[in-house]
Amino acid sequence: MSYRWLDEDSTISLDYKANQKTPFYEPIVNTFQDGGYNPNVSYHFNPDVSQYHYGVRHPMKPFRLMLTDHLVLAYKLYEKMDVYHSHRASREELLEFHSDDYIKFLESVTPDNVKKYSQYLKQFNIGDDCPVFEGMYDYSQIYAGASLDASRKLISGMSDIAINWSGGLHHAKKYEPSGFCYVNDIVLAILNMLTVHPRVLYIDIDLHHGDGVQEAFYLTDRVMTVSFHKYNGEFFPGTGNHDEVGLGKGKHFALNIPLQDGIDDESYIRLFKSVMEPVITNYKPTAIVQQCGADSLGYDRLGCFNLNIAAHGECVKFIKSFGLPMLVLGGGGYTPRNVSRLWCYETSIMTNVKLNSKLPETLPFRNFFQPDYSLHPNLGDRLDNKNSKRYLENLRNQLLEHLRFLRGAPSVAMNEIPPDIQNMSTDEEQAILDKLNKESEYDEYLESERQKMNDKDQARTNEQEE
Ligand SMILES: [Zn+2]
Repeated sequence: MSYRWLDEDSTISLDYKANQKTPFYEPIVNTFQDGGYNPNVSYHFNPDVSQYHYGVRHPMKPFRLMLTDHLVLAYKLYEKMDVYHSHRASREELLEFHSDDYIKFLESVTPDNVKKYSQYLKQFNIGDDCPVFEGMYDYSQIYAGASLDASRKLISGMSDIAINWSGGLHHAKKYEPSGFCYVNDIVLAILNMLTVHPRVLYIDIDLHHGDGVQEAFYLTDRVMTVSFHKYNGEFFPGTGNHDEVGLGKGKHFALNIPLQDGIDDESYIRLFKSVMEPVITNYKPTAIVQQCGADSLGYDRLGCFNLNIAAHGECVKFIKSFGLPMLVLGGGGYTPRNVSRLWCYETSIMTNVKLNSKLPETLPFRNFFQPDYSLHPNLGDRLDNKNSKRYLENLRNQLLEHLRFLRGAPSVAMNEIPPDIQNMSTDEEQAILDKLNKESEYDEYLESERQKMNDKDQARTNEQEE
C-alpha cells in the first residue's frame, strides 16, 4: 500500500471532521459461497494521462480518468490495493505490435507540422475520430505503459488483479489508429502475458466491437476473444456479427455477441453469464483480460444501451469469481461523470468492499455529480429494449454451438504454469518458453496424427457407402 499518491496530489483537501464521520466503505467478508477469494489488487495510474485534449468537440475526454482517480482516492480505496505510478511505454515496447512506419509517424507529427505530413494523413487514418493533437504520442505511451506494467505484475504473481482504467483502447490497429485509439495497449499486454500464459481469454463489454484485439489474434487459439456490442452492420466499427468466429487455428476462438439498442440490466446479465460460464469452463484460460468500456451504460453521450452501473459491475464481478489472474482495463465512455462512477465502483468490486452510495464530501469536482451525488444514478430508462427474448435466446444457442469445438482443442497447450514463476530471471523465462514451444510442437504432431486417422475413417465410410 502506498500513501505517496495522496501526498503528491495537492488538489485534495481532506477535511478532518468529514474524514472521521463518513464511513466510506464496508469490507465485504467473504463467505464460503464466494469462494473466500481475497485477491491482491494493483492499481496502475499516471496522472499525466488526463492532461491531454483530443479537441473541444471530440467526445473522448481524458479528464474522465482524473475524475476516476479522485473518486477512488476519496473513497480511500488505496487502502485496499497496491497503487503504482506507471511508466511510459518505450518505442521498442510499442513495436512489439505496431509497425515501425506507423510509430515513426505518431512520434513525429504534431498540430504545428501536420501540413508537412498531409500526404500521409489518409494512409494513417487521421481525421475527425483520430485527430492529430498536442502530445498524442506521449498520451499513447502513457496509457500503454500502464497496461504493460499491470500485465507484468500479473506475470510475476505479485498481483492477482491489475487495473488500468486509462487502457482498453481496443480499436487501434497494427498500422493505424481507429476509433479514438492510437496504440493498442490491450494487444501489447496480451502479447506480454503470452510469454508465460498458454491461454488468455479477452472479454470486451464496451458498446463497440473489440475489432483491433480480435483482428490481432484472429488466427490463433492461444487467445480467445469474446465481444458483446451493438451491431447493425453500420454502427462503428461495422464489424462483430455472430458469424465472425476466427480463422485457421483460431477458428471458434473468436466469439461475437451482436446486440440491438436498449438492452437492459436483466437481459444483459443473463446473456453474459450464460455465455461466459461455458466459455471459461471449456476454454480453461490461465489468465483473463477484461475491457470494461463504459459507453455500454445508459445515457452515454455516444451510447444506446440501458445498463446501470451495478449491472455492468455484476458482469465484472462474475468474471472475478473464477479466481483467475485478471487484467482489468477501461475503454470507451463519453459521459465522464458516469464513466468515473462506474470505474470507481468496479475498483471496489475488485478490492472486496461495499461503497457508501453517497459520494464522499471530500471529493474534488463533486459538482460534476449533481443533482444526486450518488454512485448509482438511474441510467436504465432511456430507450426501448429492441432485443426480444427470442432474439437473445437464438443468439445464445448459436454461440454455444461454437463451444463444442473448444473442448480439448488439440493445438491448445494444456500445461499448468509452474508455481515458481515469480521473480524469475530472463533465462528461466526463456526455458519455460522453450518448454511450452516444444509441447506445442508435440501437440501439432498429435493433431496431424489425429487428422490422418480421421481421413482414414472417412475413406472407410466412403468405401462402405459405395
Ligand atoms: Zn466504445
